[in-house]
Amino acid sequence: MLKLPVYLDYNATTPVDPRVLEAMLPYFTQHFGNAASRNHAFGWEAEEAVDYAREQVAKLVGAETKEIIFTSGATESDNLAIKGVFEMYAGKGNHIITCVTEHKAVLDTCNHLEKLGASVTCLPVHEDGLIDPAELEAAIRPETILIAIMYANNEIGVLQPVKEISAIARKHGVLFFTDATQAVGKIPVNVQEDGIDIMAFSAHKIYGPKGVGALYVRRKSPRVRLTAQMDGGGHERGMRSGTLNVPGIVGLGKACELCRLEMGEESKRLKALRDNLEDALLGLEATQLNGHKEQRLPHLSNISFKYIEGEALIMSFSKYMALSTGSACTSASMEPSYVLKALGNTDETAHASLRFGLGRFTTAEEVAFAIEQITAAVNKQRELSPTWEMYKEGARLNSVE
Ligand SMILES: *Cc1c(COP(=O)(O)O)cnc(C)c1O
Repeated sequence: MLKLPVYLDYNATTPVDPRVLEAMLPYFTQHFGNAASRNHAFGWEAEEAVDYAREQVAKLVGAETKEIIFTSGATESDNLAIKGVFEMYAGKGNHIITCVTEHKAVLDTCNHLEKLGASVTCLPVHEDGLIDPAELEAAIRPETILIAIMYANNEIGVLQPVKEISAIARKHGVLFFTDATQAVGKIPVNVQEDGIDIMAFSAHKIYGPKGVGALYVRRKSPRVRLTAQMDGGGHERGMRSGTLNVPGIVGLGKACELCRLEMGEESKRLKALRDNLEDALLGLEATQLNGHKEQRLPHLSNISFKYIEGEALIMSFSKYMALSTGSACTSASMEPSYVLKALGNTDETAHASLRFGLGRFTTAEEVAFAIEQITAAVNKQRELSPTWEMYKEGARLNSVE
């Protein structure tokens, strides 16, 4: 029996894996100590748990434990990375390079810094969602202090050419920060092999709890320094003050360990399911895959169903399925996704898009159900659509000619 609604929005958030929850539970009531309490067993226990979690996190991404800073999530990590570099390297310059399809946590942070004197270059992307490394290199100036380009996009799943980007950054002596929230735990990410200097990620995208994340900060060649954005007790080697969220950190650690051990099998399984779903839905008339077909995450698919209103489509099956559209609620109105627009899509096509995010608990049965439901809903919506009528009429006229 299917449990409804079917959840296909794993890129927005994931459920906590029961094994993660189990690891966390003792740290709420039993081992509740403050990891900064140096004078008694409660504090030592908490500190030990945090140390262990730091090892689990570091191991997943190929970092040293001292290079991992715990935060409240990727939004905070993005802020700390970008603002921290901007303040620390003010003597060197004020120029930051980023790209149009970044998460709002990066774009809004850059916008904020622009008001404080930063100069920001926002690179465009090709139709496939990827930046052009040559364009990135050409944008570097003597006063460039940071390149902030994400690892995997949250809407279309495309993987930016991280190794090429880091090589360019190295060559010009510029720090490279990547928001890897969608990539860590899903595909192999290694800060050494990938040449990453600073990297943000979050627990709730990898079957850990909400409200906890991490920032990787390189310690040598080069040693990266950040100005703290939260002042206080000097926790996390002075980079992020505040009593550590011990249960959350334990959960993030366990989540990282599970991903490290299971990611290989899991991504193969999910890719097969995703490809099934995608082949079936792209088989419908007037559909389009958004983003590069190969260079992307294995568990995500973003598809436009032309001549349809994505919101109406989603509402029509919201009782049975949970997924996201290519629209974002900004204040009261529906804005087409800026990511899909950056790929050259019209407002109509962006609004007609759905993001399918598969995950650890997705079954073949659920995917079959989604195919059936969406095919039926698309056909039904199109029957009611005047633009679809016109499109079909046009197709008939063309075939007569
Ligand atoms: C989810 C997400 C974030 C925000 O993470 P939080 O932990 O929810 O703050 C940032 N960047 C990307 C790419 C994301 O997918």
